[in-house]
Amino acid sequence: MEFGTQTIQELLEGYQAKQFKPSEVIEGYLKNISERDEKLNSFLQVRPEETLANAKKLDGRMNEVNQLPLFGIPIAIKDNFLVEGWQATAGSKVLSGYVSPYTATSVQRLESMGAVIVGKVNCDEFAMGSSNENSAFGAVRNPWDLERVPGGSSGGSSAAVAAGLATVSLGTDTGGSIRQPASLCGLVGLKPTYGRVSRYGIVAYASSLDQVGPFSKTVWDSARVMEVMAGFDDRDATSSKRSVPKYTEELSSKRTFTLGVSRSWLEGVDPEVGKSFEAVLEAFKKMGGKVIDIDLPHTRYSLSTYYLIAPSEASSNLARYDGVHYGYRTPSAKSSEDLYSRSRGEGIGREVKLRIMLGTYALSAGYYDAFYLKANQVRRKIQEDFEKAFTQCDFVVSPTSPSTAFKLGEKTDDPLKMYLSDIFTLPVNLAGLPGLSVPCGLDSKNLPIGFQLIGKPFCESDLFTAAYQYEKVRGEFPLPSIAKGKG
Ligand code: GLN
Repeated sequence: MEFGTQTIQELLEGYQAKQFKPSEVIEGYLKNISERDEKLNSFLQVRPEETLANAKKLDGRMNEVNQLPLFGIPIAIKDNFLVEGWQATAGSKVLSGYVSPYTATSVQRLESMGAVIVGKVNCDEFAMGSSNENSAFGAVRNPWDLERVPGGSSGGSSAAVAAGLATVSLGTDTGGSIRQPASLCGLVGLKPTYGRVSRYGIVAYASSLDQVGPFSKTVWDSARVMEVMAGFDDRDATSSKRSVPKYTEELSSKRTFTLGVSRSWLEGVDPEVGKSFEAVLEAFKKMGGKVIDIDLPHTRYSLSTYYLIAPSEASSNLARYDGVHYGYRTPSAKSSEDLYSRSRGEGIGREVKLRIMLGTYALSAGYYDAFYLKANQVRRKIQEDFEKAFTQCDFVVSPTSPSTAFKLGEKTDDPLKMYLSDIFTLPVNLAGLPGLSVPCGLDSKNLPIGFQLIGKPFCESDLFTAAYQYEKVRGEFPLPSIAKGKG
């Protein structure tokens, strides 16, 4: 049997019916990685022997398939998560060779419920980027078109699932890094509410914005990963104590929803993306939903707000990569100061340096009030826009990305153009809300288009329910030919 195209739900059914064993499934996925990933560059580390040994242990536990909600599910983990015994580079030379001494809570929960890690996947350096071209280990390519980007920063996580190298994957989303690559690769990608999933064991980028979330082919699969992974963790003081619903059991509830659209926010969207988005609105209306106009007047400041807050937090978080505490140390230092500056200079890439400088500047004495403090005040305004919108509608909806996957190199010389790829995702992190990207069509170049549902805090279940309903009317979304072993 060929493996790669299956969903979690399909694999679980197969295990229940004793059609195959975990070791057979995992072997199939490892084979796909070895045969296909040369083209994609999505995996940074695989450990086939350990992985297969873990799968074999599950072979002897087939009678537990109903107790373990992720029994024998192959999962890929972004390389900014710590998993004991595995490397964690966060896409940076400064962390190359670093081996994690412990496992992130999110990953530990998935593993304890039967998931099998097939590898650590590529990402933009310290999760900074929208195209996965900032990785110290080379760009990742989009399985739908190898000349195009998979989106970023979790491009390895999206490419791996779309190409059939893992059933699901984990990424982090600070300003769009799960939703945007999910959209560009034709997958479902969730950025949960801030505090819904533990950040313990994640390489920090911007701590007030970072969230962990899943990539999957279907809404059901996303809901399944979340019901296992979400919830309070006493090792992350920002994680919420709210109970976690059984998301998969709530999916089929019969509800209709009111969707809010901010028309001024949609300006500049690629026409084909716009058309597909309008079709989504029509589909919701046909299901009995309502679409209303809302106003989000401060979202137009999202980009400038984000690019003050995120780099400020990053400049502080990244101060620890100094050649002494972790990872890369220059071989040629003449003094301790020289050691610090050379290790950082040689170990850290250009985009990350740019952000560190920007953040240090915004936080420095005399500028703090004008930049960092101001940005936080605008952030509050953006949150209030959403709060107001949610008095009128259940969700705010938008395209996920203003365009489909762009060509490698197309935006690398123009940071602003690159940053604009996240125009629809950034405000969601600034407001701490959950956002779900769902595939809704293909453009004339056969590239996936996605739309985004933004919900009230901790209303992931509503997002899943609405997306599940939409998925039913949309029908099965295609996979790129590489996922079927072709191309
Ligand atoms: N593209 C945005 C950035 O570079 C968002 C990245 C992310 O969500 N990790 O900051």
